[in-house]
Amino acid sequence: MKKYVEGNYDDVTDPENFVPLEAIIEEVKLEAAKGVTEKIILIIPNLWGDGEKDLRERITRNGGPTVGLLNYGYRTGLDSFLHERFRQKFMVTRHTVPSNYMTMKCTSCNSPTSVVPVSIAESYTSLRKKFECGACRTKEAASRAIRFFSNLCLAEFYQSPTSHVLFDSFGRLRDQ
Ligand SMILES: [Zn+2]
Repeated sequence: MKKYVEGNYDDVTDPENFVPLEAIIEEVKLEAAKGVTEKIILIIPNLWGDGEKDLRERITRNGGPTVGLLNYGYRTGLDSFLHERFRQKFMVTRHTVPSNYMTMKCTSCNSPTSVVPVSIAESYTSLRKKFECGACRTKEAASRAIRFFSNLCLAEFYQSPTSHVLFDSFGRLRDQ
């Protein structure tokens, strides 16, 4: 792990001991599932004195591989600091946008929506077409539906026989 993190694995490893990075990543996943140890206890002065009694008790209470390190002086799990560096370097999927693609932004709320080829993005811009995110499209559809139904209701309201209508077209109560 350390050699891979430092980027010198190929240089300092004998070819017969060579393990591919993918295999090490799998191994690290398995080990990390058991837990990681806190390196910090190795650099605490007077760890065994009364001064650090609280710390020892807290570590013991939390359990995990760090307890082994505390009690016996050797690690029974991965070093958390090294693990984190390794994880960041090799196990985090990075979302990079390929150069001939770009992120489209919603015309209404300006939030990034999807990644499309540059040519598509350009055609949207040149045609001045709206490009809305899912949330804005839903909102738009909902308000269109409300407009549609309220128009329907109004139409029905004005079409009903005058005798059944309580209000006139100005919203005033009719004389019954
Ligand atoms: Zn939007």
